[in-house]
Amino acid sequence: MVQPSYVRIAQLAETPEAMDKSISYMQENLRRFLKKNEKVLLLFPKQENASCRILEQAVLACECIPIWIGADFRWMTLLKTAFTTRSSCIVGPPLMLLGLSKLAKQMGTPLSVKNVLMAGYPTTAWLVDGVRQGLDCMAWGCFDPGIGAVIAGFTCPEVNGVHIRDEVYGVDIVDENDQPVPDGEPGRVVLYPKAAPDLRFAVGDRARLDLRKCSCGCRTPKLVNIDTVKMGNEELSELGESLHYWTSILDCRIIRSEYGLELELIVFPGEKLPKLPSAAKLVVRPFDPETDEPFAHMNELKKRYLSPENH
Ligand SMILES: [Zn+2]
Repeated sequence: MVQPSYVRIAQLAETPEAMDKSISYMQENLRRFLKKNEKVLLLFPKQENASCRILEQAVLACECIPIWIGADFRWMTLLKTAFTTRSSCIVGPPLMLLGLSKLAKQMGTPLSVKNVLMAGYPTTAWLVDGVRQGLDCMAWGCFDPGIGAVIAGFTCPEVNGVHIRDEVYGVDIVDENDQPVPDGEPGRVVLYPKAAPDLRFAVGDRARLDLRKCSCGCRTPKLVNIDTVKMGNEELSELGESLHYWTSILDCRIIRSEYGLELELIVFPGEKLPKLPSAAKLVVRPFDPETDEPFAHMNELKKRYLSPENH
C-alpha cells in the first residue's frame, strides 16, 4: 500500500525541534521504569535513523548507560552481550526480543533484564506475553506505526493499551469507507500529525479509542483491543504468529513465492515442533550459534536501502 503521506509525516517528525520534543516524550516514559546508571542494551544497527537517535538520546537523558550491540547481530552475540553487560533494560524490535527470551531460556543464561522496550509497534498480546514470560520482565511498547520515523504513543502501565502522544498526533477510528465510527466502537486506526491534519496515515491496525481518564492517571486518548490487520497476507501472518509462538522455534521466515509457500525454520534440536503446513520449500534446521542472526534484523536492513517512495 503506497501512502505518500507517510513520507511527509516522517519529514515533520524529523525537524530538530520535533526530534527534541520526541526525546523529552520518550525520556518521560522511560523514567517510569529506568533508574539512573542502569545499563540499557540497544538492539539496533547504529545507523542514521530517527527512532534510534531518539531512543539513544532519551536513554542518555535518563542518565542511563547505553550499550550498542555494534555490527555483529548474531543471536549468540545478542545473548552474550545482554548477559555480560548485566543490562537491566533491552530496547529492540519485538521479534528479536522474543527470540532472545527463548534463547536465554534454552541456554539457561540468567539475564538481569527487568524491562524490555519493544520499539516499533503496539504489539499483539501473544508477543508481549511471550517476552514477559521468557525474560520474566515487564514489556513496554513504543508506538511507531511507520518504519521508525515517528513516536506516536507509549504503552499504558496498567491497562493493555497504548496512550497516544496527543500533543503531536491525533487518531481517528474509521470504517471500511474511511468514515468515523461511533465513539468507542472498533475500526481501522488512522493517525495524523496535529500540525498537518490532512496527512492521514492508515496505521494498519484495528482498535477502539478510549477517551476516558485512565486508571494510570493519564488523560490522553488510549488505543485498546488493538488487532493487527493482516494487510493482504492474512494467511501468512497467522502462520507466522502460530510458529513464533512455539518456544522450540527460535526464528522463522515465511515467503509466498511464485512456487508457493516457502518456509525456513530455525529450531532448537530435540524440542517438540508444531505440525507444519505443506510447502513448496521447507527448511527446518537446527540453530547454528556460530552464524544465525535474526531474520527480522536482516529484513530491517533490507528495508533501509529502499527509497521512501517504495513505502
Ligand atoms: Zn493508562
